[in-house]
Amino acid sequence: MKRAIHLASLGDGKTSPNPMVGAVILDKNGNIISEGFHYKAGMPHAEAMAFNNLKKDATGGSMYVNLEPCCHLGKTPPCVDKVISSGIKKIYVSIKDPDKRVSGKGIKLLKEAGIQVHLGLCKKESLELNKAFVYRNITDKTYGVLKWAMSIDGRIGLKNGKSKWITNEESRSLVHSFRAEFDAIIIGGNTLRKDNPILTTRGLKSPEPLRVIFTKTLDLPSKSNLWNSNEAKTLVIYDSSTANEKFLARIPKCVEVEKVSTDNPELISRLLAKRGCNKVLWECGPRLATSAVKSGCINEIISFIAPKILGGENSMSPFGDFEFQEMHEILDLNESNISFIGNDICVKSSLKN
Ligand SMILES: [Zn+2]
Repeated sequence: MKRAIHLASLGDGKTSPNPMVGAVILDKNGNIISEGFHYKAGMPHAEAMAFNNLKKDATGGSMYVNLEPCCHLGKTPPCVDKVISSGIKKIYVSIKDPDKRVSGKGIKLLKEAGIQVHLGLCKKESLELNKAFVYRNITDKTYGVLKWAMSIDGRIGLKNGKSKWITNEESRSLVHSFRAEFDAIIIGGNTLRKDNPILTTRGLKSPEPLRVIFTKTLDLPSKSNLWNSNEAKTLVIYDSSTANEKFLARIPKCVEVEKVSTDNPELISRLLAKRGCNKVLWECGPRLATSAVKSGCINEIISFIAPKILGGENSMSPFGDFEFQEMHEILDLNESNISFIGNDICVKSSLKN
């Protein structure tokens, strides 16, 4: 199963809206005779790839797969049928498909066909691997990671908005590769106006993550790096209760536009989940970051901390006001993973609850 999970992880960042799945087939003597993984949405599922790679007869053998085989006809034929017709007599499934419409059905069909099904092997590791997929299926929201870079005194920019660069070059290039894990990157209109970012992995992922701009005003510049759709797709989401729709004319035709009825970031999360995004990266400024946390859109944080001091009461912080009055109200994080990137420190953690 650990081999299946490792194979599954090779599809990281490429399988959405599907999960990451790996499959290993053993012959009746317990020797590995084939394996496969789902490497991209629309391509064969892990089980199908493992059967396609099969060189020997699998009759009487067994299969290890980190997620319940599918039983519905999607873009590819159901895997359950392939397992049944293969002559395999035993299958180890790590976790059930979290999709309520199909969960348990694949296992039921396998059992009805006389195959022994063992559920739960390496469950914790499999849930961790596909946490974003599981989260989207259970909540209809995307799994959100909030990222920011700051000085050791907790500042993300000077009072005048200047912020290039706080962290070192190595940290910044790490961000590019780190983006490849995500289906979408979200910024607010302020970040677009101030930084004119490119928001790509610089070619590390194809297609590049969807670039999402959330704006309350639609007052976006007519020239922007994000209006160039050659490198990556861009989606503008605007709050129709406050935006001036006259500004829509500034946005080029190659950019998609969607509207939401309020400025609650949960609507962005739900909209992107509906579009099949499992995991999204919020690279936004303090205002949107604060409301994204408040509305429960953030599951994890990643903070790059540079040994520099910006100072100033009015220089920019990663967050706005949460209006906490008592210390017991403040946000508490789970155990952190801390690493050093040259002189910078990278802290990864998750929000409690
Ligand atoms: Zn399948």
